[in-house]
Amino acid sequence: MCGGELANVDDSEIAIQGVVTDSRNIDSGCLFVPLVGEKFDGHNFAGDCLAAGASAILWEKANGMPPGPGVLVENTLEALQQLAASYLAQSGAKVIGITGSNGKTTTKDIVFSLLSTTYKVHKTQGNFNNHIGLPLTILLMPEDCDIAVLEMGMSGRHEIELLSKLAKPETAIVTNIGESHLLQLGSRLEIARAKLEILSGMKQGGLLVYNGDEPLLNIVLSEESTAKPEGLRKSTFGLSGDNDDYPSGIMFADGKTLFTSHLIGNMTLELPLLGEHNVINCLAALTVARHYGVSVQGIQEGLRNVELTGMRIEMITGTSGITVLNDAYNASPTSMKAAILVLERMKGYRNKIAVLGDMLELGDSEEEYHREVGAFVSTSKLDYLFTYGKLGELIAEGAGDALDANHIFAYHDKSELIHKLESIVNPKDIVLVKGSRGMKLEEVVEAIKASS
Ligand code: ATP
Ligand code: MG
Repeated sequence: MCGGELANVDDSEIAIQGVVTDSRNIDSGCLFVPLVGEKFDGHNFAGDCLAAGASAILWEKANGMPPGPGVLVENTLEALQQLAASYLAQSGAKVIGITGSNGKTTTKDIVFSLLSTTYKVHKTQGNFNNHIGLPLTILLMPEDCDIAVLEMGMSGRHEIELLSKLAKPETAIVTNIGESHLLQLGSRLEIARAKLEILSGMKQGGLLVYNGDEPLLNIVLSEESTAKPEGLRKSTFGLSGDNDDYPSGIMFADGKTLFTSHLIGNMTLELPLLGEHNVINCLAALTVARHYGVSVQGIQEGLRNVELTGMRIEMITGTSGITVLNDAYNASPTSMKAAILVLERMKGYRNKIAVLGDMLELGDSEEEYHREVGAFVSTSKLDYLFTYGKLGELIAEGAGDALDANHIFAYHDKSELIHKLESIVNPKDIVLVKGSRGMKLEEVVEAIKASS
C-alpha cells in the first residue's frame, strides 16, 4: 500500500493496528513512521518505539536496515501519504474536502454533525489539515465509514493540490478568501488560486460548493489554467440573494443564531453558534447535507448537536461572572471584523470591551490591515478597546477618536493589560478576546474568567 519492501520480517504475520508519527505516543501494535524534520530525525527513536510496543517501522532505505520488523521506503513522508491514499481508496468512503481562509474547522464540524444523522462519518480531529495531518486523519478512519470530512489547509501554492490528489474529494467546499498567508502568496488572487487547487484531484462530476460573494473565486474558476474535473458541478452560498443558498432574518439569542436558509425554505433554523460568519459557514454545510440527501428533520437534529473545536468565538462565563467571547484561537482582518460584528450585536450588557492582539503573517500591508481593523472598530459601538502588541497598537491608532480617548488602551505587556482590564470589567460586561495564535491571548481569557 505504501510502495515499500518488507525488511526483517519472517513468515509470521505482523498485525498493524494504527499509524503513529510521534514517538511519545506509541500504541501497542502500531506502525511507527519516523519523519525527518529540521531538528529531529524520527529514525533515531525507532528502537524506543519498538520497545514501547510498535509492531513495525517505516524506514528510509538510505539509513540501512531498521532495528526490527519494517518496511523499506525511499521517503517516509511520501510513503505515509501513499499509505493513506491507498487506505482511503480501498475503504470506498466518499470524501468531502474543505478549504478556504477562515471557517474551515467550523464548517467541517457542522458538515460532520449534519451528515452524522444519516451516515457513518469520520472527520479531521482538531486542525490536522496539512501534508502530515491529513494522511494521519485518513488512517484514523474506521474501515466502515461512508464519508470522510477532511479539512485541507495550506500556506503556499501546490499544497492543497497535493492534499486533493491524495484524498480525491467528491465534494469540495471553499469557505472564503481572506488575507491569511498573504505574506507567502503575494495577492488575494493568488490565495484564491491556491484554494481552488482543491479541484485538481477531485472526482469526475464532483460538486464544488463555494462562497459566491467572493468575485475572485469566479475569476479563478474561469481561468483556463485552473485544473478541474470533468463534469464539475457548482453551487454557491453567501449573504447575497444571487447565491444558490443565502440567509435571511438573522437573529442572535442566548449564544445561538437563528436564521432561515433559502435552500431549506420557510423554517427558522437554530445554530448553536454566534455570528453572521457562522451562518455563512452553516450555509455551505446545508448545501452539502441536502446534496447527500439528509432530511430537513436530520438537519434540525444535526444543528442541535454541532460541537465545535475550542476557542472559536466560544461564549464563556467564569467564576467572575463576566461574559467572555473567546476567539483567541487565531486572527486575520476578515475574522477580526466578523468577531467585532458579533460583539457589536450582543444585547443586554453594560460595557462591550474588545481585547485585540496582533494579526501575524500579513506581509507588506500588515500595518494597513491593522489600521483598517481600527477604523472598523471606530464605526462599531464598543465601549472599550484594549490592544496587545506592536501591530495591535495600530488598531488603537486606527480607531482614532471614535471612542473616548480614555477608553482606548494599547499595551505591549500582557500582565499590565490584564491588570488594567481587571480594574475596569464588571460581571455585567462582555469581553471579546482575539489575536493571532502567537499572541496567546487565552491567557487574558483565563485571567478574566478567574478575576474577582
Ligand atoms: P485555520 O486556518 O487556523 O485552520 P480555519 O479556517 O479552520 O482556521 P476556524 O477554526 O473555523 O477556521 O475559525 C478560525 C477563526 O476564523 C474563528 O476564530 C472565527 O472567528 C473566524 N471565522 C470563522 N468562519 C469565518 C468566516 N466564514 N468568515 C470570517 N471569519 C470566520
Ligand atoms: Mg482549521
